[in-house]
Amino acid sequence: MKIIEVQPLSIRWDQGGSSSWVRIRTDSGLTGYGEASPMYGGHASLQVIADCRDWLIGRDPLDQQVIQDHLFFKMAKLGPDGAMAAALAALDIALWDIRGKAMGMPIHKLLGGAHRPVLPFYASIGGNGVRTVDEVLKAVESWLDLKPSLIKIRFDADRTRRDVDLPGDMAKARAVRQLVGDSIGLSFDANNGYSVQGAIRVGRLLEELEYVWFEEPVQPFHTQSFEKVAGALDIPVAAGEQEYTLQGIGRLIDAGVGIVQPDIVKTGGFTGLMQMAALARTYGVDLVPHQTQPLIGMVANLHLVSTLLHGHHPVESNERPGRQHAAVANPPIPMDGAYELPTGPGLGLEFVESEIERRITVWG
Ligand code: CA
Repeated sequence: MKIIEVQPLSIRWDQGGSSSWVRIRTDSGLTGYGEASPMYGGHASLQVIADCRDWLIGRDPLDQQVIQDHLFFKMAKLGPDGAMAAALAALDIALWDIRGKAMGMPIHKLLGGAHRPVLPFYASIGGNGVRTVDEVLKAVESWLDLKPSLIKIRFDADRTRRDVDLPGDMAKARAVRQLVGDSIGLSFDANNGYSVQGAIRVGRLLEELEYVWFEEPVQPFHTQSFEKVAGALDIPVAAGEQEYTLQGIGRLIDAGVGIVQPDIVKTGGFTGLMQMAALARTYGVDLVPHQTQPLIGMVANLHLVSTLLHGHHPVESNERPGRQHAAVANPPIPMDGAYELPTGPGLGLEFVESEIERRITVWG
């Protein structure tokens, strides 16, 4: 089997937002779809995919590890973090989609099988730094009908400032616990907003309120600060959405981070995340992927997370379902707070090309 076409696709959705997808066609008639995180519009990743196109044409799509290794080293000076890694993730997901279709099996079967065929989700609610306590509670209430098993409140603060409103943030953490009682798990995402001392202060309250994890308390890339915070607290510290390499995840594990959160559409795709899962397993650390994209990203993440030994945390969802559903005949829809694992070949998504075609926009 040979790759005959690689198309980077910028897709604009009727309800807002855009996606950075790749479509790969083969000489055997199989087509695979992948996705890159749409960081800053996602155009940088699409350009990297376009730049790889000539190198990819004629290669065997089942050689995804070889393809990823070659392209990583070929383009390392463009990264290895950020848009370049996301482009390789998109290519990898599309190649796994093709592999599954070639074998007539869903990707989770190719990865070794699902420990969990049904995956509860958690509501990831952003923008809480600038909200009042009442507005935070309203935002949380707006998700409760979907029965998430956990709610994450993200603060999304200005990363150039630290400890802007510690008492206010702590009041919000308290109010959310009071609102949901003990029935729903909670986690707190500082989005890198605190100093070491500020993070430890907030972390102690989160322990008292029985939050499940404390995400990105301190500046990204500053592993010494993560080490100090993780060392001072019992609550697991989570991080990893801003790491793009196996070594970056390794540094966080060395620093004592208890939950690592690489993102399948940002780094490595299935090939990379399975290696990170093995690394996390080596050190007894949980791998709970970061995940923000509602269709390809969501389904790719479901396949991967289902296969994780000792996986018990829910999968991330940061918007209510629906925005990208028109692109497929069988969109992922949660029932009673959980997603069923797709069973069709590859990703298991039945793409409707005519619906995709009319949403494609030119970039650059
Ligand atoms: Ca986060």
